[in-house]
Amino acid sequence: MDTRREFLKKSGSAAWLLTTAGLPALTAAGSATGERTTTPAEQMAPTPATGEPAPWYRRITRWGQVNITEKDPPQYDIGWWRDYWKRTNTRGIIANAGGIVAYYPTKIPLHKPSEFLGDRDLFGDLCKAAHDDGLAVFARMDSNRAHEEFYRAHPDWFAVDPAGQPYRAADLYIACINSPYYTEHLPAVLKEIATLYHPDGFTDNSWSGLGRDSICHCPYCKDSFHQATGYDLPVKADWEEGRYKAWLRWNYDRRIQLWDFNNGITTQAGGPDCIWSGMNSGSISGQSRSFRDCKAIAERAAILMLDDQARTDTGGFQHNGEIGKLYHGLLGWDKLIPESMAMYQAHKPWFRLASKPEPEARMWMVEGLAGGISSWWHMIGATHEDRRMHHNPERIFAWEAANEEYLLHRQPVATVGLAWTQENMDYYGRDQAEERVELPWLGMAGALVRARIPYLPIHLDHLDRDGKDLALLILPDLAVISDEQAQAVRRFVEKGGGLIATGNTGLLTGDGEPRADFVLGDLFGAHLEKPRNLFTKPTEEKMAGEAFHTYLRITPGKRHPVLQGFEETDILPYGGLLDPLKVDSDVTVPLTYIPQFPTYPPEKAWMRIPRTDIPGLILKEHLKSRIAYLPADIDRQYGRSNLPDHGDLLKNIVQWATNGNIPVTVKGAGLIDTHLYRKGNQLILHLVNLTNENTWRQSLDELIPVGPYKIRVRLPKDVAGRQVRTLVNAQNHSSPKSTDGWCEFDVPRILDHEVLVID
Ligand SMILES: [Zn+2]
Repeated sequence: MDTRREFLKKSGSAAWLLTTAGLPALTAAGSATGERTTTPAEQMAPTPATGEPAPWYRRITRWGQVNITEKDPPQYDIGWWRDYWKRTNTRGIIANAGGIVAYYPTKIPLHKPSEFLGDRDLFGDLCKAAHDDGLAVFARMDSNRAHEEFYRAHPDWFAVDPAGQPYRAADLYIACINSPYYTEHLPAVLKEIATLYHPDGFTDNSWSGLGRDSICHCPYCKDSFHQATGYDLPVKADWEEGRYKAWLRWNYDRRIQLWDFNNGITTQAGGPDCIWSGMNSGSISGQSRSFRDCKAIAERAAILMLDDQARTDTGGFQHNGEIGKLYHGLLGWDKLIPESMAMYQAHKPWFRLASKPEPEARMWMVEGLAGGISSWWHMIGATHEDRRMHHNPERIFAWEAANEEYLLHRQPVATVGLAWTQENMDYYGRDQAEERVELPWLGMAGALVRARIPYLPIHLDHLDRDGKDLALLILPDLAVISDEQAQAVRRFVEKGGGLIATGNTGLLTGDGEPRADFVLGDLFGAHLEKPRNLFTKPTEEKMAGEAFHTYLRITPGKRHPVLQGFEETDILPYGGLLDPLKVDSDVTVPLTYIPQFPTYPPEKAWMRIPRTDIPGLILKEHLKSRIAYLPADIDRQYGRSNLPDHGDLLKNIVQWATNGNIPVTVKGAGLIDTHLYRKGNQLILHLVNLTNENTWRQSLDELIPVGPYKIRVRLPKDVAGRQVRTLVNAQNHSSPKSTDGWCEFDVPRILDHEVLVID
């Protein structure tokens, strides 16, 4: 059976027209010949040198969205919002059009108009006003639920559980994406809107249908899954079962087919630039749970609509800079990523109608800009009694408008790559993705941010393409590695690239099947003594709160540079469990394992086995490469516990493995996120101030200035380093000193962020 990756490789060509056996044909509706319509990816070829402007989806930044509530139509004051668009430099709007309810007088049967629409054509009026003001319009759909009347008319179009009961969300019914709801009803709605109003494009909030936690047993799913795979539908998640994995892949494939199908519909009805772009999450585990294949989506998306409205306490503001880079890594840096940013209190807890503190909204926007994201203010409802939220986007939108030439179409500069794949999220993460996949990533990324080392998320399939300027590749407990990916890592190391890997890296195949040994064991200089089951829970209880009460012992004798700063200790806290490993003779083992002993009562807190030869860290120099394998999952521990020792150890190992090849240093106190870019013969450096008493807990309500900083930036050959301009605070202006290919300057004070242009 094809793996998902293989299927998607093929689907770049004409496979988007193929039907999954048994499903309604996904040819562009209305096309009698089933002729192939141009895919968005093809329409996006770089603008030819004809002087024609790039299509709107390559140009329009600074979006705004009032998510219309049902109650809004009579009270939506379009005149007031037109002023607001002007005031905020907004260039495009996302306006609710159809789906669960229609905000225009629709003629499609069962497409229910909003209860309070009356005789108003709200979407039509908004679309016209925006177009009259020169703004682009994304017609927003919310497509996957419907009301009872619809369900009664077409019960077979709706998803059902294994017992045949419909899946519901409150009083709405959830449509099955394999049913004619998606191939007949929604296309009719899209065509109606495109024909009546000519929006520039379409976006959809809930386009991918039911997620992984709900298995649909409707007749369409039954037939098509059986025809595609030979299996009956699974009844529940069983990751050991071939049938369940086949179901996952079949689901991913269907969403990609729908993406292309919807584009066929909208471009046919609205013209070649009338693209459809479903919204995507900033959480890769969220994407997995929704069967959204980030890589395959990015390969065909004309513009990536990111729905990632606010920070979490654990991910922090810096997640926004990171997710922008991650998606640009897939999309390319010539495409745009607008991101929905809540101006109200989002998530923890939700207060849809209360303003978020301006500093909290601002820092999320600032980090988005640092990662190449375009801002998009998002509010619920057309009238607000908490008017403070209207002011939240003003400052950053104005700054973005004034400085856009430095924010778009640039290339990131970084020498450290942090590898990821969605297969690792699926097949290793399974239903514990946070513990198995997200914490190691968070810890490694957190250590890099804290050390002010710029890094790039690298999809492991793109290592040959995107890894050319990297000095170091990090595999943060990346258990799932295919044979082809392992070969790419070997090629990277053979060319002199450094490598850091942790935990179970390479113990699963590309399809998530167990391997007898680390696929990169020869590079690590370490091998399993006996097969390891990655999915059995340890029988030992954790004695140190969320962690095991274990330690790492520093090997006596001359200390390795990765242990710099630990001169006054012979042990380091660890927190995980380790097995014995077979270790090659050409390695250094600077840290070994101390097994768990009680924390309580204090009288019992003494080491039962003070030393073992079980390695916690293995270092190796191979040709010109420096390789560190950490059997001890220090990345996961740092992600979970935030112990400075773990952050320092990771920083030291990164500095050793890059052999000092890091393009920027930032000296001074505070937590500063560092992003470096290149555009023409300029370097652009973002310094984001994350130093705050609310860094790790929402919400931020005051900004605390930090500084001064001493900055050193390595100059590429064609960047002179004669002047440094400041884009935020004019008082940060300083004269650089450029010698030996490095540019040195001071930044006296950073309140929220500073962006420096070096040329
Ligand atoms: Zn179904």
